[in-house]
Amino acid sequence: MNRLFLVFIALLALLPVLPTPEFWITQANYIGLSAIVAIGLVLLTGVGGMTSFGQAAFVGLGAYATSYLSTTLGVSPWLGLLAGVAVSMAVAFILGALTMRLSGHYLPLGTIAWGLSFFFLFGNMEFLGRFDGLSGIPPLELFGYSLRAGQDIFYLIWAVVVLAVVATQNLLNSRPGRAIRALKGGVVMAEAMGARTVWLKLVCFVFAAVLASLSGWLYAHMQRSVNPTPFGLNAGIEYLFMAVIGGAGHVWGAIFGAGLVILLKDQLQSLLPRLFGETGSFETIVLGVLLVLLLQHARNGLWPYLAELMPRRWRRQALVQPPAQAESLPVRARPAAGESLLVVEGARKEFGGLVAVNDMRFEVKAGEVVGLIGPNGAGKSTMFNLITGVLDVTRGTVRYLGEDIQGLPSREIVRRGIARTFQHVKLLGNMSVLENVALGAHLRGQAGVLRSMLRLNRGEEARLLAEAQRQLERVGLAHLMHEPAGSLALGQQRILEIARALCCDPALLLLDEPAAGLRYKEKEALAELLARLRGEGMSILIVEHDMDFVMNLCDRLVVMEFGTLIAEGVPSVVQQDPAVLEAYLGGL
Ligand code: ADP
Ligand code: MG
Repeated sequence: MNRLFLVFIALLALLPVLPTPEFWITQANYIGLSAIVAIGLVLLTGVGGMTSFGQAAFVGLGAYATSYLSTTLGVSPWLGLLAGVAVSMAVAFILGALTMRLSGHYLPLGTIAWGLSFFFLFGNMEFLGRFDGLSGIPPLELFGYSLRAGQDIFYLIWAVVVLAVVATQNLLNSRPGRAIRALKGGVVMAEAMGARTVWLKLVCFVFAAVLASLSGWLYAHMQRSVNPTPFGLNAGIEYLFMAVIGGAGHVWGAIFGAGLVILLKDQLQSLLPRLFGETGSFETIVLGVLLVLLLQHARNGLWPYLAELMPRRWRRQALVQPPAQAESLPVRARPAAGESLLVVEGARKEFGGLVAVNDMRFEVKAGEVVGLIGPNGAGKSTMFNLITGVLDVTRGTVRYLGEDIQGLPSREIVRRGIARTFQHVKLLGNMSVLENVALGAHLRGQAGVLRSMLRLNRGEEARLLAEAQRQLERVGLAHLMHEPAGSLALGQQRILEIARALCCDPALLLLDEPAAGLRYKEKEALAELLARLRGEGMSILIVEHDMDFVMNLCDRLVVMEFGTLIAEGVPSVVQQDPAVLEAYLGGL
């Protein structure tokens, strides 16, 4: 726990004890309620990259569930809490399964659609009191003590905020959390590391919905009456405002954003009508303009600026450290040298009319280093995507250790022992080198979301991080493990990707143009690393454009041109092959 957190909790504890005016306690309560929703949005939108305008609907579900149960059936608010959370989870599951698959701007549009639907649903239900809503909701009771007064519910609200912060931060610094953070790096990369991306998106969505519903429950019992207005689309947009203004990737930003929006709105509400001499909701317009300015000048929100102003010691995030010592993870049984690993037969891939891979056949045996080479556009990366399950073949088979792996998703293929790197480096620039590499060990741990939130994953987490450190040492990047991956030079980033792939405990390593764009020195370092891996008996299939680079490294070369196999054999022979010379030199 860092210093900032302690100061924050001390301030919270003191606020109602000090002679704080009632008004400020009420404001703090509203800020807390909004912050709970915004923290969910940090995970969903800021970290997971899924924009939702519809969170207010879940606040409404939580609020209406408990309001209905307590006013009509006289049920205890605590049962109302369970009911609200259960309903929100169920609805989030169904809505999430339907909308999380939408890509690009369809997802936000989808959330707007259900945000609107729920507003009208609340407003048109007879048993929910239509647009008048429900009133006479009892205050909460805790250990026989009524939380009727603002100061009393203040503690409960902010306890929920603190728990939400802790749970979210625990989750983010864990095996499933790294996979959730990887969603922003693209689904292809996350799946290649073994993450179940659709499931993880759903988890974020349900988690955010549960937080929103908790906020609604607290709201209903604080306010003692509910109506549809605070659960409409406007409110949904405001919650998103808060998360974005604070800085959508920062848990603390959510609290800061909630505070800023609520206080600013309150000030503007009294100031603007006086300024314009008329009444009206001018504050909404001003907030809108501010948001546009913010998005233009401070994409990442205001939290990073605020953090800069704090004393350095407060800011120091507990770096994610590998443990001093940890058991090593189990490794898979290696196939014996010379055993057939990968067999591609008659593999064909068509993109519309274009035949990118045309009846390719080749084999990789255990312990071999095979180069898949050919001019640009020959179909090498496509071939790679066929092997790793990113694309399905149009025809033909891909077998690995005798099993037909064609049609399996990427995460199942990496589970079987084929790990890869990408031609265009895919890593998380803001995440540390160590954590990026630890992502590769995803399938070597089991801790799920709940265990991670409760920090019951410590032992496993230590083993995963120790493994990441070991792989970084193996490739010679250990000295950079705390740097953000984005600050590394391209050559180092490519080596980072190799370390990440090694963390998958592969029996076969697939490298897509690892030398592309590297400077001479970087190429030398890479060649030295690959030679070392080869010496350790690693089986490697390396796609390369540059024939010189693979000449000394590979046992065998497979040459493609226009999707077709044009030559195969030991490098010295292939190099002299007239068809290869023709392909590379364009008919000399
Ligand atoms: P290489 O990696 O050998 O440079 P690629 O496998 O990337 O070549 O591309 C082979 C051919 O397939 C190229 O003509 C490319 O334009 C085409 N291609 C690759 N991916 C796609 C895709 N997703 N849709 C359509 N055409 C593609
Ligand atoms: Mg390529």
